[in-house]
Amino acid sequence: MNHVTLNDDDLARCDVVIVGAGVAGLSAANILTSAGATVMVLEARDRVGGRALSTPAGEQRLDLGATWFWPNEPTVQTSRTELGLEAFPQRTAGDALLETPNEGAQRLDGNPIDSPAYRLSDGMQSLPERLADRLSCGTLRLEDPVRALTLTPNGVRVEALHTRLLAQHVIVAVPPALAAEQIRFEPDLPPQLRRIAESTTVWMGSTVKAVAVYATPFWQSEGLSGSAISYSGPFREFHDHSGPDSAPPAIFAFASADAFAGVSLDDAKHSFLAQLERLFGADARGATRVYVQDWSRERYTTPTVIAQQSSTATYGSSQFNEAIGGHIHFASTETATAYAGHVEGAIRAGHSAARRILDQTRSAPR
Ligand SMILES: Cc1cc2nc3c(=O)[nH]c(=O)nc-3n(C[C@H](O)[C@H](O)[C@H](O)COP(=O)(O)OP(=O)(O)OC[C@H]3O[C@@H](n4cnc5c(N)ncnc54)[C@H](O)[C@@H]3O)c2cc1C
Repeated sequence: MNHVTLNDDDLARCDVVIVGAGVAGLSAANILTSAGATVMVLEARDRVGGRALSTPAGEQRLDLGATWFWPNEPTVQTSRTELGLEAFPQRTAGDALLETPNEGAQRLDGNPIDSPAYRLSDGMQSLPERLADRLSCGTLRLEDPVRALTLTPNGVRVEALHTRLLAQHVIVAVPPALAAEQIRFEPDLPPQLRRIAESTTVWMGSTVKAVAVYATPFWQSEGLSGSAISYSGPFREFHDHSGPDSAPPAIFAFASADAFAGVSLDDAKHSFLAQLERLFGADARGATRVYVQDWSRERYTTPTVIAQQSSTATYGSSQFNEAIGGHIHFASTETATAYAGHVEGAIRAGHSAARRILDQTRSAPR
């Protein structure tokens, strides 16, 4: 294939390109467009939301990614109120279960597993969807993965699958380890930043989340909360996942993706149902629908090579909060200096990258 090289003068221009339409990228986009900046958001997937993914189940939606926000998270509360999104409390009433290899499933007195939390009535993905709805027409391009970012004297040249642009600033609202693997930076990322980016765990990127939907919340009528901790596996943690007013009734569980390496998602469904039956009895076999989402298999969430000493110790590192060459800014939840990993952290990371750009622009000599 012939490769046509365009001069910067031939490229369309905008103030800020945002790579990734997850919570962080779209939160940044809203701050910047409200301040009058011209913005283009380029998203690799055919949907917005990234790790916030809510799948339709009857009249409700079920979260296959992020589920809760917590009472001590002010920014997510403010965003959801501004966006007009309804919330409801996570159901915690009833007894929890504990499963061990020697003693099987035992009923605990009360529920020491769940802490008070809230969920969005239309699923967590409704938050990034609402943020995207606020953008003006043409500001968001789906199925357009960014492949290269080149610092030039005129700004940053952005090369995506279908788009080439010249931007004054770029926000990389993608987990740093994924950006380091998938995006070609020219010049390359400073060595220390590359090392940190590659070794920064993608939060929940190696997790399998499974959800079983039922005709009735049979565990609730037995006085069970739907929560369980299992030391037998393969699923380690279970919670009630029913929608508002228990519709649809559902339970979800987390497992480490390692437990299902080389296993088909169908086989993972069978072991989920078998474990639900061990914990909650024969009724648990009668799920009307079962979903299994392995986030480690998502090419736009988790890098193919996970650095050996991958950790969360680098979350919020000052290296992520200094613009590269003054023009390229990292902003995913992993870069947040507080609440990193959570939706709260993603919103904060997006807002803080956007504000840094606005401050820089205001103080630049004219
Ligand atoms: C199973 C699971 C459960 C979770 N539970 C909770 C919870 O209960 N509460 C909570 O607060 N948080 C939870 N989280 C974490 C929460 O989902 C994240 O903190 C948040 O969604 C991260 O948003 P983000 O915008 O930083 O990153 P992402 O959501 O990862 O967004 C990055 C975006 O960039 C896109 N992208 C990637 N590469 C490119 C490219 N080259 N070009 C263009 N676009 C690209 C991706 O497609 C994606 O849309 C959970 C996550 C998972 C997976």
